[in-house]
Amino acid sequence: MSRPLAPELFASLDPLSLAGSRCPACATVQFPPAPQCAHCAADGPAPIALPTSGRIWTWTVQRFAPKAPYVSPASGFVPYPVGYVDLGEVLVETLLQVGDRSPAIGDEVHLRRAPVGTGEHFTYAFGA
Ligand SMILES: [Zn+2]
Repeated sequence: MSRPLAPELFASLDPLSLAGSRCPACATVQFPPAPQCAHCAADGPAPIALPTSGRIWTWTVQRFAPKAPYVSPASGFVPYPVGYVDLGEVLVETLLQVGDRSPAIGDEVHLRRAPVGTGEHFTYAFGA
């Protein structure tokens, strides 16, 4: 059974949802959740589950291997698309899994699990 690499990023594993926080003073939503609002510095943002679908806000291609715990495949590092997905109240930086085609700004994408390394752990991604 695969486990989340960073459990604090998830509000729920089944169904899968990301954990965010909403400021009690200004309603700013943050991902990942934080104990203090990044907009107005108020303490005590409340935990929320973020929407599981959104639209690609922008994207690029990761052309070098990230630092550990990323593990390159035995066959060598393969560049992959990353970007920001607009979930309505917050932008989430993410892997993009759209198959053989290029991502497109504005495309609708959905939250999914992304295996890490040998598959013992997973992280999140958004895909078509
Ligand atoms: Zn605030």
